[in-house]
Amino acid sequence: MAFLELKGLTKRFGQVTAVDQIALPINQGEFLTLLGPSGCGKTTILRMVAGFEMPDEGSILLDGDDITHRPASKRPMGMVFQSYALFPHMTAEQNIAFGMEVKKQPREQIKKRCAELLELVGLGEMGKRYPHQLSGGQQQRIALARALAVEPKVLLLDEPLSALDAKVRVSLRNEIRRIQQQLKMTAIYVTHDQEEALAVSDRIAVMAKGKIEQLDHPEEIYVNPHTVFAATFVGTSNQFNGVLESAAQGLCKSANQTFHVLAQSRLRDNERVLIVVRPEEVSLHAAEEGPGMQANGVANSIAGVIELRTFLGPFTRFHVKIDDSSTLIADVPSQQGRGFAMGQQVRLSFRPEACQVLPLD
Ligand code: ATP
Repeated sequence: MAFLELKGLTKRFGQVTAVDQIALPINQGEFLTLLGPSGCGKTTILRMVAGFEMPDEGSILLDGDDITHRPASKRPMGMVFQSYALFPHMTAEQNIAFGMEVKKQPREQIKKRCAELLELVGLGEMGKRYPHQLSGGQQQRIALARALAVEPKVLLLDEPLSALDAKVRVSLRNEIRRIQQQLKMTAIYVTHDQEEALAVSDRIAVMAKGKIEQLDHPEEIYVNPHTVFAATFVGTSNQFNGVLESAAQGLCKSANQTFHVLAQSRLRDNERVLIVVRPEEVSLHAAEEGPGMQANGVANSIAGVIELRTFLGPFTRFHVKIDDSSTLIADVPSQQGRGFAMGQQVRLSFRPEACQVLPLD
């Protein structure tokens, strides 16, 4: 049985169904991320788990106990907010100690625990500082220590990094992951940033309009998206509308191209589909070379002209115009990319295995 289980969870605000029949089992020690665009219901789920919001339907089970109607103060949850929400008139140490003092823990124990937590979040020397004397990243570390001080069974993080600048975001997300793994803490993390979600999570629930579109490991979400929304929201992808001419032979047709894909056992002939290809799966060849035949089958091969070349360090991104209305993106290791220039006629190729075929209806 899951450690934390959301069952049929539903929340409405007037006409809006913010959370719609969510079923989500979360394992002990798991880092689970709710990922989706603004307004898809992520925060509302977190607030229901914390006890700040009551569901209209469904239940929340923690370690076998039904906590659906338990008040927030009686739930063993620690929460970290986007805005840090530290008490400004208290030092870092006093902020961390607050929850333990409310619980009337012995003074010596609180002092020891504060010192441990300050070390854990890498701020051993800063206990006596006030929030205004700390950077945003440091304040969020203190907020994390404060959430952990009450020894929660579940850590809830609501977009904790979105107020920070890019560099601090990356280092703090790694820190959060390190601490969560060190403590084997069960965590629910809310973000709209797909890169962040892919980087830190054990599993990701991709959400749209109050529902979970796909619940999977990060690699699986990226390599094998199950829905058009998941394919579009996570990562960059080339997409073609087409018709599956033959499911058995793996043949799709779009307006101007024929695509060789793998045999599709779950789709029917003549079904409308979206063909999705990640840019790093697309190879670039000089036009005269041609793509040739790949050893493992027929390669998809499309002619085009490079209309944009962007050097991105380890790889170079090429936008290749393949007809009046479409451009294909190819991410090529920069060493290979050196030989290609703007305006050059090229051929693009990708393997049948690189094509995800998703039903459109
Ligand atoms: P964001 O990333 O912008 O915070 P979110 O995915 O966390 O978005 P929620 O904050 O959970 O989304 O909101 C889901 C939907 O519920 C939205 O349409 C929002 O306007 C609505 N909503 C949330 N809280 C309330 C409220 N207290 N009263 C009315 N509507 C609300």
